[in-house]
Amino acid sequence: MRIDVLTLFPEMCEGVFSTSILGKAREKNIVSLNTVNFRDFSGNKHNSVDDTPYGGGGGMVLKPDPIFAAVEHVLAGASGSPEVKPRIILMCPQGQTYTQSIAEELAREEHLIFICGHYEGYDERIREHLVTDELSIGDYVLTGGELPALTVIDSIVRLQPGALGNETSAVSDSFSTGLLEYPHYTRPAEFRGWKVPDILVSGHHANIEVWRREQALQRTLQRRPDLLDTAELTPKDRKVLERLKRETQPEQNLT
Ligand code: SAM
Repeated sequence: MRIDVLTLFPEMCEGVFSTSILGKAREKNIVSLNTVNFRDFSGNKHNSVDDTPYGGGGGMVLKPDPIFAAVEHVLAGASGSPEVKPRIILMCPQGQTYTQSIAEELAREEHLIFICGHYEGYDERIREHLVTDELSIGDYVLTGGELPALTVIDSIVRLQPGALGNETSAVSDSFSTGLLEYPHYTRPAEFRGWKVPDILVSGHHANIEVWRREQALQRTLQRRPDLLDTAELTPKDRKVLERLKRETQPEQNLT
């Protein structure tokens, strides 16, 4: 997989790209992570990439020409087959809200190009004629698109085969199964009087799996019941949920 990030602040990305799991995935050539400063494509002697908005008002708007030129430069240098159509992703608060299922979809692509904005916004022609996707990481506004792009990239790279030490750890993660993940414990078996649940030290793996599934269902019911509408549930899961709902319902007033 190849990922290019168009940014005015490449140094914000480089630290993340060379650290921890992303750094190792890069070293192992699982992913090629590159930054492109679109100021290098300004085409003017002042290296300016933004201008005042037509129609007046505050804030500066990113011009279309440097961003189109930077994307075209990346496309011309991409060595993949002509059938590979890179996804060109604009990071913006007005985009589709990012989720794990979008991460799984993007993780199957061969080439992704992220565009990080700054200032007031982008010239609308970038949206209309250049990008294939617009992504938001949530209903709040940051100063720039670098942290959102890094968030998305991290979640995609960790899904690449071989990126995580333990292949199974991404499979049971929250959202991958449609549910929140079950609780974890490690040594010591007792800490300040708080004991690890007996089942986890029983050595009975089948029972542990049943317990973990029930815990995942309970946690999801308590914290994110909306996820249960789309999660893949077995008839047994549904029975467990019915029981958990009955147990948590307030006692009825019988008078
Ligand atoms: N004026 C814009 C608006 O109201 O939609 C917000 C611009 S914001 C200050 C500057 C840049 O930060 C955006 O172009 C985008 O790249 C990035 N950004 C800010 N919040 C974001 C979010 N929630 N998700 C993705 N990108 C975001």
